[in-house]
Amino acid sequence: MAKYKVIYDRQNCIGAVQYVAVMPEFWTLDKDGKANLKGSKKNGGTWELDLDETLLQKMKDAAASCPVNVIHVEETKKNF
Ligand code: SF4
Repeated sequence: MAKYKVIYDRQNCIGAVQYVAVMPEFWTLDKDGKANLKGSKKNGGTWELDLDETLLQKMKDAAASCPVNVIHVEETKKNF
C-alpha cells in the first residue's frame, strides 16, 4: 500500500473550517480560529501527518476545498 504525507502550513490558515464537521477524525478548530490537524507533528514551519490510502481521498477533498492552498498531500512510498 502506498504511503502519503499531509503537509499543513498552519500559519497561513485563515480559519472558516467548513470540513471539520465532516472530517472530525482529522481536523479540529482551535481557539485562535485556525484548524489543527490531529496527530500531526511540527516540522519547521509546517505540520505533517503520515497517511495511508484508506484516508487519502478525504484529505485530498480537504486540500481541494482550502481557499488559501495550505494543505498539501504527497506520496512518500510506492507499493511495488
Ligand atoms: S480550508 Fe484552509 S484556510 Fe480554511 S481552515 Fe482549512 S486549512 Fe485553514
